[in-house]
Amino acid sequence: MEEEEGPEFGKPDFVLLDQVTMEDFMNNLKTRFEKGRIYTYIGEVVVSVNPYRELPLYGPEVIAKYQGRELYERPPHLYAVADAAHKAMKRRAKDTCIVISGESGAGKTEASKHIMQYIAAITNPSQRAEVERVKDVLLKSTCVLEAFGNARTNRNHNSSRFGKYMDINFDFKGDPTGGHIHSYLLEKSRVLKQHSGERNFHSFYQLLRGAKDEQLQALNLQRDPSIYIFTQQGAGLSSSDSDEANYRAVIQAMKIIGFSPDEIDCVHRILAAILHLGNIQFVETESGLEVEEKMLVDHVARLTATPPELVMRSLLSRTVASGGRELIEKGHSAPEARYARDACAKAIYERLFGWIVGRINEVMEARGRDPRRDGKDTVIGVLDIYGFEIFPDNSFEQFCINYCNEKLQQLFIQLILKQEQEEYQREGITWQNIEYFNNSAIVELVERPHRGLLAILDEACTTVGTVTDRLFLQSMDTHHRHHPHYTSRQLCPTDKTMEFGRDFRIKHYAGDVTYSVEGFIDKNKDSLFQDFKRLLYNSTDLTLRGMWPDGQQDITEVTKRPLTAGTLFKNSMVALVENLASKEPYYVRCIKPNEEKCPGRLDEERCRHQVAYLGLLENVRVRRAGFASRQPYPRFLLRYKMTCEYTWPNHLLASDKAAVGALIEQHGFQGDVAFGHSKLFIRSPRTLVSLEQSRAQL
Ligand code: ATP
Ligand code: MG
Repeated sequence: MEEEEGPEFGKPDFVLLDQVTMEDFMNNLKTRFEKGRIYTYIGEVVVSVNPYRELPLYGPEVIAKYQGRELYERPPHLYAVADAAHKAMKRRAKDTCIVISGESGAGKTEASKHIMQYIAAITNPSQRAEVERVKDVLLKSTCVLEAFGNARTNRNHNSSRFGKYMDINFDFKGDPTGGHIHSYLLEKSRVLKQHSGERNFHSFYQLLRGAKDEQLQALNLQRDPSIYIFTQQGAGLSSSDSDEANYRAVIQAMKIIGFSPDEIDCVHRILAAILHLGNIQFVETESGLEVEEKMLVDHVARLTATPPELVMRSLLSRTVASGGRELIEKGHSAPEARYARDACAKAIYERLFGWIVGRINEVMEARGRDPRRDGKDTVIGVLDIYGFEIFPDNSFEQFCINYCNEKLQQLFIQLILKQEQEEYQREGITWQNIEYFNNSAIVELVERPHRGLLAILDEACTTVGTVTDRLFLQSMDTHHRHHPHYTSRQLCPTDKTMEFGRDFRIKHYAGDVTYSVEGFIDKNKDSLFQDFKRLLYNSTDLTLRGMWPDGQQDITEVTKRPLTAGTLFKNSMVALVENLASKEPYYVRCIKPNEEKCPGRLDEERCRHQVAYLGLLENVRVRRAGFASRQPYPRFLLRYKMTCEYTWPNHLLASDKAAVGALIEQHGFQGDVAFGHSKLFIRSPRTLVSLEQSRAQL
């Protein structure tokens, strides 16, 4: 990698553009992209464009070039940001976080892996065994979570279908001692059904294609995914990598993390049980509802270590409390039975995923912590969460995901734009107001208590009697008739792009999205009959049983309504944003260059759109109107006092501020800085670079 870059590579920081227009921004992005420079800064924010090809940008030699360097000393890179976060954490004992955003296929997960690899490579020089173990688990956890939480979609062959936030704990030496993963809203509806051209989660195909014949036999499985309804759709599609090889890699990773052979076995049995469950069909006979192929029920029972007659009963009926404490068994109709079967399959997979995350967390709990500093260690958080989604059909999942992106965008605005302005005010530096799109009205529309869309949805779910999705839509229409970011066909009868009584539209910061209300109530209630929970809790397989603690409740005790999926998600987002806001943030903004996953091609229209909705131009304007860097006077002196005769080795001026003034004057940088009350503000990164150079030349 070149250390010095000529003008032919474009500007390494968008702050250095001659003018901040979309044209100039795009030209620079394109110039750099064509030359294999996929990373560019906006101050400390990294803009990354997915190259869709292997570039010689990674690995130990490159890592060595970034280690311990300042951000502007080397060409823009994820490594520089990882290093900055690590330095802030180590030098200033600051909790930091790296927020990676961008749409599906933009390269978020790959970026998070490079960041983790960098951190693993630069830490633990003394090779302490416990720290090495933690690093192994951190790195291997990605492989396992990808197997169970990623799937091939039309946008990305390895798309993360869950949000992930990972905390890495560091001791006072700056070495990782533990970690914790939070996962958000796994797209479990994928277990049942996939769009054309897409697959179920990788784990199913890995098992079918990778397991040995004997093992498949023991699971009563056949190798061909087209036999199983849940994998039929994606059977002919291969993932970007071979499922067979990945099957072995995942088992290997699970072993390194510390999953026991019994546990790994249990995971496979659960996957197999889900596949069998999916093939169960119901027929109405004269004597009532029956299962078509009883053998499948036996397979499910055996694999889940539960009695077959109870599996059968849970599939065909449910227990309801009638009147007081009396329990009656109520038979399902065929549609009810299918609904219950599907709810059960989804829930089993979701619990399995949650359990895997939980097991990894147990192993990563900061065991190597120095007891004297217990609880005082610092943290780097890495957030890799689903980007904004606009599909031809958008449902409850997209509604949640897009709300999540609104929250993160709001945080970005607050932290980067507002905080900067406020800091200038605090420091007594004049500030030109920058116009930016404030999306808080949209966040409020979704999450506000009582009248927000999620609250209206919850109300629809708890109303007694049959409330349909359509009534829910009417209720939203009534409450938000005049909201600038909400509309529907009812409110806008001439707009034929929405269907009457089905669609509503939100004007998101990233664009308009039309959602169909179909299934909102069901997905929000997310109910599973207690019979299934009890069945699985009574499994003689302790691992499986451990996933169903709520199965011990008796039906008569299950009176309290559980929180809805929407509310749970909202609460987890509020907590996430609070957590991020308490840390020093670093941002990676990923851009997807084209829809075809084509190496080296940049579709300008697509990129322009992303640049717009990621707010990158506003970001540049703020950095420019403002300053690329700011440092408290004492810290600035500490780093650069050797470059000036008045300040070396110590200055005799009235204050540190005056001493910095003398230094800046000697270098001739007066025109590029402003003096705040306690900090020096430097406008362009060039000044910093040249200060660094004079320091290095001594
Ligand atoms: P999703 O939201 O769907 O999970 P994502 O933003 O996490 O998408 P990735 O899975 O990280 O996207 O990237 C998609 C694909 O793009 C990768 O599988 C890889 O083929 C390619 N890719 C991404 N980043 C890079 C990179 N830095 N170098 C080479 N290829 C890359
Ligand atoms: Mg991803």
